[in-house]
Amino acid sequence: METLDLGRRIDLLSMDPHFHDISIAVYRDDDGGGATYLLHSYSRRDGAGDRLRFLAGVMRTAGGMVAGGGSPLAVRFACGHAHEAALKRLFVESCKAPPGTDPERRPLSVLDKKNDLTVRVDALGGGRYRCGGDRDGARERRRVAAIAAGLGKLAELQVDGTEVRFPCGADHHELISLLLIRALNVRGALREQEAAAARGMLSAPSQQR
Ligand SMILES: [Zn+2]
Repeated sequence: METLDLGRRIDLLSMDPHFHDISIAVYRDDDGGGATYLLHSYSRRDGAGDRLRFLAGVMRTAGGMVAGGGSPLAVRFACGHAHEAALKRLFVESCKAPPGTDPERRPLSVLDKKNDLTVRVDALGGGRYRCGGDRDGARERRRVAAIAAGLGKLAELQVDGTEVRFPCGADHHELISLLLIRALNVRGALREQEAAAARGMLSAPSQQR
């Protein structure tokens, strides 16, 4: 029986659609000072390690993370903060990447089709960002504030009107651009996360191959 001290499991993809439906978990370990996250699979299938290394790379690029040290499957935020809610979203989004693809770099703006509104995020420095629309009516301002609130919810940010702020005081452009598109439909994003978590509960790692 293999026993590993991986830390605390914070999320699980129970079936990776891009690699033989293997399960992939992400663990959090706070021992080295800041929070470090480790990708792990109990699958012994050939290539599973390559898939995990690829996903760690996607998380570094798409989430602006750095290598966690000690393992090619470990990643962390350079600021040392855990940003656990944002990390979970980043994990879910990263696992959608098919092998061999480069994660696309998203701009700091998004088109809100339903409202025909382009929402732009300006970096103010020190981990602060201001959301704004390309139109500025009362309705558009409400929508922009709702999107800022959505960003706040998805990444545990402090929200003040149309401004959001990372609690670490460091910039995270990649996270903002990744989460911006999800902030258009926060309820959908949270539902997706809860469904994945529920599936994870049903399948204990020891029963997986
Ligand atoms: Zn940070």
